[in-house]
Amino acid sequence: MIPFNAPPVVGTEIEYMQSALGSGKLCGDGGFTRRCQLWMEQHFRSKKVLLTPSCTASLEMAALLLDIQPGDEVIMPSYTFVSTANAFVLRGATIVFVDIHPDTMNIDETKIEAAITDKTRVIVPVHYAGVACEMDTIMGLAAKYNLFVVEDAAQGVMSTYKGRPLGSIGHIGCYSFHETKNYTSGGEGGATLINDPALVERAEIIREKGTNRSQFFRGQVDKYTWRDVGSSYLMSDLQAAYLWAQLEVAERINQQRLALWKNYYDALAPLAAKGRIALPVVPADCGQNAHMFYIKLRDEADRSRLISWFKEAEIMAVFHYIPLHSSPAGQQFGRFHGEDRYTTTESERLLRLPLFYNLSPVNQRSVINTLLSYFS
Ligand SMILES: *Cc1c(COP(=O)(O)O)cnc(C)c1O
Repeated sequence: MIPFNAPPVVGTEIEYMQSALGSGKLCGDGGFTRRCQLWMEQHFRSKKVLLTPSCTASLEMAALLLDIQPGDEVIMPSYTFVSTANAFVLRGATIVFVDIHPDTMNIDETKIEAAITDKTRVIVPVHYAGVACEMDTIMGLAAKYNLFVVEDAAQGVMSTYKGRPLGSIGHIGCYSFHETKNYTSGGEGGATLINDPALVERAEIIREKGTNRSQFFRGQVDKYTWRDVGSSYLMSDLQAAYLWAQLEVAERINQQRLALWKNYYDALAPLAAKGRIALPVVPADCGQNAHMFYIKLRDEADRSRLISWFKEAEIMAVFHYIPLHSSPAGQQFGRFHGEDRYTTTESERLLRLPLFYNLSPVNQRSVINTLLSYFS
């Protein structure tokens, strides 16, 4: 069986986890957490990076940090994971969905301005498949209307937009280290990138149960107290040890994924040239991280047939997302602004192929051959 995904493993994870066990401190903000955070602050040029239990937690932290209140509106694509919306719905916000570009599946930045109202507080671009949204336009709108931008960069670790790391461009960026993403902290994990210096102090407080314990540990205050609302958004140092093993060889993982991505692209280009499938589009300004390789079929029925064909060959190919605005909770907590020209139809055509760090060449060949045989 060729699985759709397997968690990345580079070999040094156990050694570092052993070392964390020996350190006598496994809770959050230990030695490995500090190493990971510093590495990311330097590599991704972010003011402050904080490891969290998940990207979901990072998005929730962002909503708390921006003081989202009932009635506030948050603009995002409908074609995304539920956590992008839930984080703001938990604070009572209304979600305003706008359509996507059919080529990148990213939010259509030209449709955002018309969706802005007096209640709009935040725009949440989701960098689908690790390919950047049109951030210059989005940041321009945010400046013009005095809005915040929270990047859902769950899939965008090590990707860039005009040379800038994804997650470092908006006021806040959110990463995922779930096992389905490019880098993992042992199954679950995330990071919040605080790029706006004015938000750093409060971010640390919210993450530490509403206390200024982070300042206390740095010796900046002589006792810590309850200062604000907050929760526990720390990652265990045992998980940070796992993550450190992967960050150390981040470029190797990135190159390996890019090579796998290119193998698919080159092998399937003739099918695309004949108009049988559509391939992903990576705009010139985007440095991608090969988070995902997807193809687009003619329609949903065609996709179902191909999934069955793959299953016969014991290959797992999967699709996502059911557009949020068409789901029961999406209807309750949000509304679609403008026309759904591409969100639904494009999401129904999309199929993701197995792509993970440890995918062997022989297995990738088998996926490609099975796909080619379907079309011949
Ligand atoms: C994976 C993902 C999330 C959630 O990440 P977790 O770390 O599992 O909470 C959020 N948004 C997008 C776009 C994702 O792909």
